[in-house]
Amino acid sequence: MMRQYELVERATSYNPHADELLLNKAYVYAMQKHGSQTRASGDPYFSHPLEVAAILADLKVDDATIVVALLHDTIEDTDATRAEIDDVFGHDIGKLVEGLTKIERLDLMSKKAAQAENLRKLLLAISDDVRVLLVKLGDRLHNMRTLHHVPPHKRTRISEETLEIYAPLAGRMGMQDMREELEDLSFRYVNPDAYEAIVERLSDLREKNRPFIEEIQHDLLERLEQNGISAVVKAREKRPYSIFRKTQKKSLSFEQLSDIFGFRIMVDTIPACYQALGIVHSSWSCVPGQFKDYISTPKQNDYQSIHTTVVGTSRQRVELQIRTRDMDQIAEYGIAAHALYKDREGEHAQRLSSDSRAYEWLRRSIEILAQGDSPEAFLENTKLELFHDQVFCFTPKGRLIALPKGATPIDFAYAVHTDVGNTAVGSKVNGHIRPLVTELMNGDEVEIIRSNAQTPPSAWENIAVTGKARAAIRRATREAVRQQYADLGRQILTHSFERYGKPFSEEAFGTVAPRLGHANIEDCLAAVGRGEITSRDVVRVLYPDYQDERVIHQTDPNDTGWVALDGKAGMKMRVEEAGSNGTRSIPVRGIRRGLPVSFAPEGGAVPGDRIVGILSPGEGVTIYPIQSPALQEFDDEPDRWVDVRWDIDEDNPERFPARVHVTVINEPGTLAQISAVIGTNDGNIDNLHLSKRASDFADIVIDLEVWDLKHLSRIIHEIHNLEPVSSVNRVNG
Ligand code: MN
Repeated sequence: MMRQYELVERATSYNPHADELLLNKAYVYAMQKHGSQTRASGDPYFSHPLEVAAILADLKVDDATIVVALLHDTIEDTDATRAEIDDVFGHDIGKLVEGLTKIERLDLMSKKAAQAENLRKLLLAISDDVRVLLVKLGDRLHNMRTLHHVPPHKRTRISEETLEIYAPLAGRMGMQDMREELEDLSFRYVNPDAYEAIVERLSDLREKNRPFIEEIQHDLLERLEQNGISAVVKAREKRPYSIFRKTQKKSLSFEQLSDIFGFRIMVDTIPACYQALGIVHSSWSCVPGQFKDYISTPKQNDYQSIHTTVVGTSRQRVELQIRTRDMDQIAEYGIAAHALYKDREGEHAQRLSSDSRAYEWLRRSIEILAQGDSPEAFLENTKLELFHDQVFCFTPKGRLIALPKGATPIDFAYAVHTDVGNTAVGSKVNGHIRPLVTELMNGDEVEIIRSNAQTPPSAWENIAVTGKARAAIRRATREAVRQQYADLGRQILTHSFERYGKPFSEEAFGTVAPRLGHANIEDCLAAVGRGEITSRDVVRVLYPDYQDERVIHQTDPNDTGWVALDGKAGMKMRVEEAGSNGTRSIPVRGIRRGLPVSFAPEGGAVPGDRIVGILSPGEGVTIYPIQSPALQEFDDEPDRWVDVRWDIDEDNPERFPARVHVTVINEPGTLAQISAVIGTNDGNIDNLHLSKRASDFADIVIDLEVWDLKHLSRIIHEIHNLEPVSSVNRVNG
């Protein structure tokens, strides 16, 4: 915390006439009044008015303003009264502290009417004595600097209010440094992602451009010196919020901004400014349209400077500001510079000098107030001017929507609500139907015409000027594409399930979506639509027994239609009666007894397996066990699937090939144990292949001959029970 003498030293450093006694008295008074109160940070409360006083001392204000800064929260937060302050510090200071107390709790982010009224109160308090505004801005700046101590939910609102009211007000009063710091501090909380991104890229760029900047700075100084101009050349860079605003307003990328780095040339006299300009323009080529002379025509906030942009040696654009030191003071301190202790005589010495343009603006605003306009009209006239690079529009119900200049009803709709933007199909501006791409003007009343059938065209992304609208349009476009895939997936599943004779229920589907790797039904449907999940996968998950369902037409074993397998004595197959119910057409009618039927070579079907036949026109039917991965190939050809079932005599002497895969711990005797189990269970080992997986594990693939599924299952089960076996699986080709 700053010591008493430090503050006094600071004040007397630029104002030798400062009343030290008064400053000391205010320091002690405020410290005692705030006593043991603490701030959100846990610091003593008094640290806050003290820091505000320090900020104001840096603006080189008079001693009374520093005193008011020290006292600014005493009436509001302690037992101090206006009367007591009048007694101790005099009427003037008492009035200023009361002025600050009145605007202490003004909510400038409230509804339109109240907002206008509050803004009116604020401007009235300022116009009464501009020092109220100086202290208020110092107060806000310190609060913003310590905002991280405030609960998160309050930060955004305070930051928005700062960005919308106090920062532009500081700018309007010509206090550029104050405005920029307020903006950057608020930006960090209002849009943390954008803030981080810009700060990071700015530091990259700064690093990259360092040599180039130093070179230009050196060049500039040398040339000015050669021409006998004494100047100070300062390198400067655009602030994060200013970069953000520019990219938003002009829909430019960070890289497209030409004036991130620049120089400020400060000279002694106005003629020297123009001389310097001549030197700059004769040394480098200037960018047409970028030259602005605010010396002959000052800005409304009294800002004076020459701006020009030149192209540097390495084709980079460099913005140059040329001004006198006095002009630089005004640009930095704004009205605070006018309010310096120039005139200590008159009672109203600290009022803005009447030749100040900032004062002009303030006076004009107050005049409008005096004309007794409605708060709404006042808001339009005053606030709109305060934020000259914004447009203010209203919803039909009177809600104020602030947008950057160039905004369209699309931006407006998204600013109202994302849903409104996503369903916007048209707009009425001031009661007339207007295209959604119309540029909005200050005071426009905008009504958005909506349709729930609408999804925003992706082309809008290039029309919208606000980041919020653009992000929402991108999201909606992605969502619309996903929706199309989901609809396709829904169709695929509905048809597939029909084929399997099962109803498709989205509710049931939803419960298994996570097992298919998706969090929700829509994502899962979209995955089916994109072909990432087959309808077969879905059925398998919903109906673990679905193999039964796959075969639509149940057969009666007493029916005709059984065919014998070539060379497989005692075993018959039945091929479905083709077209019996008119739903399917299999080109085997009349020739079914002669239909060639064979096992898939690597299929490994054994009696007892659920099997299906795949019809190949001209080739006959190939039998696969239902779990065979080879069947996936025929997923999309339901017409080729043929219902077949085993029909085997009890005393059939035939054995069937089957393959199992065993993973074992690699130790002596393991293979012997497995062979023994197969042998005792009456299985034949046809072939056996052993491969080492790692030093301690081995894979064994065994081709067996078994009687049927029951036989195979028993062998697998017993192999599995062996101590060294870690897994055993049947393999289907
Ligand atoms: Mn305060």
